[in-house]
Amino acid sequence: ATIATCPLSREDLGTGTWGLLHTIAAHFPEKPSTVEKVQARRFFDALGDLYPCTVCKEDFRRDIDEHPPDVSSREALSAWVCERHNEVNAKLGKPTLGCALKTLDKRWKNGGARCGGSTPSE
Ligand code: FAD
Repeated sequence: ATIATCPLSREDLGTGTWGLLHTIAAHFPEKPSTVEKVQARRFFDALGDLYPCTVCKEDFRRDIDEHPPDVSSREALSAWVCERHNEVNAKLGKPTLGCALKTLDKRWKNGGARCGGSTPSE
């Protein structure tokens, strides 16, 4: 897919960012170390401060204050990102998606019928 706008529109920035967040979660360790847990929390905290869309970051910050990142495992973090995305989907009147790991992996990790690409580590 090509992100076409220059500079990035709110939509393209959002799609690119969700891609990063879901992909990070999909590759998060099953058993993260203490450092990996701390870094993941810092990453989402920083996003809530630095995301370059004021209304987006304010709502995201409120949402993650209420629902802090679950960095206990790959499955937990994948579901957590999915739920945060669903919060935004609901706010924008878009459909929400199921957050089971199997469903998420089809889209963001292992590839299903709809994904034929290589993984970012390849
Ligand atoms: P996107 O929402 O960008 O989704 C991309 C792909 O992710 C979808 O095609 C689908 O395959 C997959 N997907 C969708 N939902 C889920 C899910 N729950 N779990 C896993 N995968 C999923 N825009 C605003 O206008 N106002 C805001 O306040 C706002 N806040 C945002 C906050 C954050 C932190 C981010 C990252 C983005 C925000 N955006 C906001 C942008 C918005 O969420 C969308 O990215 C943008 O509207 C483009 O939407 P889209 O329909 O192309 O798909």
